[in-house]
Amino acid sequence: MQHGIILVVEDDPTLQMVSKMAIQHLGYQCEVVGNGEDAVKRDLEDIVLIFMDIGLPDITGVQATMLIREKELREGRKRMPIVALTGHAVEDRCLQAGMDDFIQKPALIDDLKKMVDKYVGDGNDAN
Ligand SMILES: [Mg+2]
Repeated sequence: MQHGIILVVEDDPTLQMVSKMAIQHLGYQCEVVGNGEDAVKRDLEDIVLIFMDIGLPDITGVQATMLIREKELREGRKRMPIVALTGHAVEDRCLQAGMDDFIQKPALIDDLKKMVDKYVGDGNDAN
């Protein structure tokens, strides 16, 4: 059963691989992009949740989130759940920028699962 795609925005190749495996293990398709601009450019239609790193090579995860929120408004889309992957205490900034939640890195499968269940789990075409 199709669950939709979870987008991971992360520049560290190891963390890209680990998060992708964890998300696939949870039964979701996972797409990874390595920078914020690619995340902003990505069509949001088939994405159900975004995990967003903060430290990225071009624009930060905070800036990317603000641009995605602007894009949603422009395109009249409903709000995409965006969960920050933070390495340190920038939670306030993440929430102010329009993120919905945050988890500390390295994100373990239990942390990712909690967020997937919270934002796309219940009643959302669960298999
Ligand atoms: Mg990073």
